[in-house]
Amino acid sequence: MTFTVENNGEAQVAGLLKSLLGTETFGSWINGALVEGHGEVINLVNPATGQVFMQYQDAGDQNVNDAAQAAVLAQSQWWSMTATARGRAMYACGQKIREAAEQLAKLESISAGKPIRDCRVEVSKVSEMFEYYAGWCDKMTGQVIPVPTSHLNYTRHEPYGVVVQITPWNAPIFTGGWQIAPAICAGNAVLLKPSELTPLSTTVLAKLIEEAGIPKGLVNIVNGLGHTTGAAAIANKASKKVVFVGSPKTGGLIAGAAAQRVIPCVLELGGKSANIVFDDADLDRAVVGAQAAIFAAAGQSCVSGSRLLVHSNVYSQVVERLASAADKIAVNLPWLEDTMVGPVNNINQFNHIKGLVAEGVAQGATVASGGQAGEVAGGEGGYFYKPTVLGDVKNSMSVAQEEIFGPVVSVIPFDDEEQAIEIANDSRFGLAGAVWTANVGRAHRMAAQVNAGTFWVNSYKAINVMSPFGGFGESGYGRSSGYEGLLEYTQTKSVWVETAKDAAIQFGYSVE
Ligand code: NAD
Repeated sequence: MTFTVENNGEAQVAGLLKSLLGTETFGSWINGALVEGHGEVINLVNPATGQVFMQYQDAGDQNVNDAAQAAVLAQSQWWSMTATARGRAMYACGQKIREAAEQLAKLESISAGKPIRDCRVEVSKVSEMFEYYAGWCDKMTGQVIPVPTSHLNYTRHEPYGVVVQITPWNAPIFTGGWQIAPAICAGNAVLLKPSELTPLSTTVLAKLIEEAGIPKGLVNIVNGLGHTTGAAAIANKASKKVVFVGSPKTGGLIAGAAAQRVIPCVLELGGKSANIVFDDADLDRAVVGAQAAIFAAAGQSCVSGSRLLVHSNVYSQVVERLASAADKIAVNLPWLEDTMVGPVNNINQFNHIKGLVAEGVAQGATVASGGQAGEVAGGEGGYFYKPTVLGDVKNSMSVAQEEIFGPVVSVIPFDDEEQAIEIANDSRFGLAGAVWTANVGRAHRMAAQVNAGTFWVNSYKAINVMSPFGGFGESGYGRSSGYEGLLEYTQTKSVWVETAKDAAIQFGYSVE
C-alpha cells in the first residue's frame, strides 16, 4: 500500500483534496460549502521536506460570523429531530468515515507528517467515536427526583446551542472527531478551529459527516490563526461553550477569553507523564512499553511517557536496553509502511526539542542514544529527530519539568515506592502515568497516589472513546470521552410540575 509523494506532497494532497472535498482550493467549511478566507496567507508545510505544499487565507471575523449564523439555524433543526433519527445519522457518519478511511489516513500522513500506520488507527478511532455516541443519542435520560412537595420534578440534559472547539496539530482528525461526536450527540452545533498548521483532514471530516445525513451548518470548520479566527469564534455571541485542546499557555488565554464572556470551558492541555518501572516488573514488557509510550507519534502526544522513573536496582540495565532499542527504530518518511517514527510536525517544535535537549545536557543529563536530528533519504529539509534516551536525569532539570513534545525520554532513578510517588507528583502537570510491577497491591497504591487523569498498570496509552479522559493540575480541567465527556456538552434543566388539586390556594394569595 506504499504510495509515492511527487512534487513534495503537493500532487498527492491536491489529488486527495479534489477527491474528498471536490476542490483544489482551500478555506473554511461553512454551511455545507468551502468558503475562502480574506485574511493573512497561511503556508502549509510538508514536515518531511520542509517545503510549502499549499496556501490558504485566514478565515477571520466575517467567515466566523457566517459560520455562527449557520450553526444557530442548523442547531434548532437538529435538536427538533427525534433522538432516534439523530442517532441513526451519527451512526451513518461512522460508516462514511470507514469508507473514506484510506484516503483520510493518507491525507493526514502527508499533511501532518504522521506515520501512515498510526493515521490508519486514528481514523478508525474517529469512526468508533461517531458509532459510540450514536448509541447515546436516545439514552440521554434525566432523573425523576422525589421532592418533598406535591410537584413532579424531573431533569433534562439540554444542549448549549453553539459550541466552539479549538484543536492542536499533533492529532488533527482524532481530536476533531473526539470533540465533534459528543457535541452533536448532545444536540449542539459546532464551530471548530483546527490548528492552522494541519486543517485539511478536519475539514474533510465535516464534509463526510454531512454526506452521511448531518444537516449542513451543524458542523462548521473555521480555518485560520488562533489570535484572529480562534479568538473571533470565542467572542461570537452565538458561542456558548469552549472546548480547547492544546498547550497550557494558550489554554490560559482561552479560559480568560471565555471568562470575559461568562461562558464555560473545558481545557485538555499538556503533560509530563511519569512511567514508573519497579525492579520486580517484567522488564521485557516494560522496555517495549516505554518505547511505545514516548516514541509513537515522534513523542508528539499529550500522554507520552516522557519521564521514565526506574528503580535504581535496574536503572543501568533499563537505560542500556532502551538506548539499544531506540537506535534500531525505523525513522523514515511518514507515508512509508514500515515507518515507526516520522518527522516532527513543524520547525518551531523541532527547534524547541533541540533547545531543551541541549539545556538538559548542559544541566548534567547524558545522551544514551539519539540527541540529534535524523537523516532520512528523500526527507532532506524535513524535521526528523532521532529517538532519544537521556540518562542521569534529575527531576529538577528542564528536561523533566518542561513538555518536550518530541521523541525524547528522560530517565530518572528512584529507590523506593515513596520516592517514586514524590518524583511523579513533583510536576505542574497531571495528565497520565503508569506503573510496571508484579506486585498487585503496589500497582493499586500507585494508581491511587499518582496525580493523573489517566493511569495504566503494566500498560501504556490504552485509551478509548468509552472511558473518560482529562487532566489534573495544569493538564487542564473537564473531561472528554465516555459519558462524562458527553455531559460536558449538556446543561441540566430542572422542571417542576405542580400536581396538587388545590395548588393555587397553597401560595396564600387571593385570586382577585
Ligand atoms: P497551541 O496551544 O499552540 O495551539 C492549539 C490551538 O489553539 C491551535 O488551533 C491554535 O491556532 C489555537 N490558538 C492559539 N492562540 C489562540 C488564541 N489566542 N485564541 C484562540 N485560539 C488560539 O498548541 P499546539 O502547539 O497546537 O499543540 C500542542 C499542545 O497540545 C501540547 O501542549 C499538547 O500536550 C497539547 N495536547 C493536549 C491534548 C489533551 O487531550 N490533553 C491532546 C493533544 C495535544
